[in-house]
Amino acid sequence: MIAGNIRKVKERIENKCSEIERDPAGIKLIAVSKNFGIDAIKKAYDEGIRDFGENRAQELDIKFSRMPEFVSSKSKAGDSDVSGRNIVWHFIGNLQRNKVRFAVDCADYIHSVDSLMLAAEINKRAGAVNKIQKVLLQINTSEEDTKSGLTNYSEIRDLAGYCNEFPSVELIGLMTIGPLTNDMELVRKSFTRLRKLKNRLNGDNFANIKELSMGMTSDFEIAIEEGATMLRVGSAIFGERDYSKDWRESL
Ligand SMILES: *Cc1c(COP(=O)(O)O)cnc(C)c1O
Repeated sequence: MIAGNIRKVKERIENKCSEIERDPAGIKLIAVSKNFGIDAIKKAYDEGIRDFGENRAQELDIKFSRMPEFVSSKSKAGDSDVSGRNIVWHFIGNLQRNKVRFAVDCADYIHSVDSLMLAAEINKRAGAVNKIQKVLLQINTSEEDTKSGLTNYSEIRDLAGYCNEFPSVELIGLMTIGPLTNDMELVRKSFTRLRKLKNRLNGDNFANIKELSMGMTSDFEIAIEEGATMLRVGSAIFGERDYSKDWRESL
């Protein structure tokens, strides 16, 4: 099932790209494996997925330690990074300060930075473990109060400025979660907003902000149209999440 799902998602990405004449190579597909076990991750890995997304720090920590140098029978030589690891972990959830060490120690990217306090804590931990932590700023583009993320431009610009001064943080982009609605024009509006925000920051001396992390199962095609460079796709790959089941059972 996972293999077929991945094929379908990739096909949809390619079709959308050819329709709007975008190069699919500029789009990273992140398989959001939250609430799914190691078996599912290994299956996706065997189908060529290398980027995985998790939204809980301790869940990421456990999965990371279970697959530190996982190399599949199907992986090719030269497939791994210098650490010998060829899985890339993305932390995409709310991050509490006391869980920062899990995220920094395991994740190559943290998509959900939305305060100076959090950025400072990430910088501190990354410095302690000799790492430059790649981060994205989470933006609330949907005007839904329930969503975390920054909304105010000067606040966003100031936080971007602080990130650029932190020696152990590398700010590479912006992330947003589209509004939970069937109204696709509202969804598009939210993604357009993120793209324009990035352009505005680029013009404000933040040329380093290049990535747009937006688009999930229900809206990734719109996200591609609006310039997404990182898609976070869960259920279209792994199936519906069943929160009554504990993912640890499949460890
Ligand atoms: C769960 C989650 C996703 C994936 O959602 P699907 O609808 O299953 O594709 C993407 N981004 C974030 C931040 C998530 O928490």
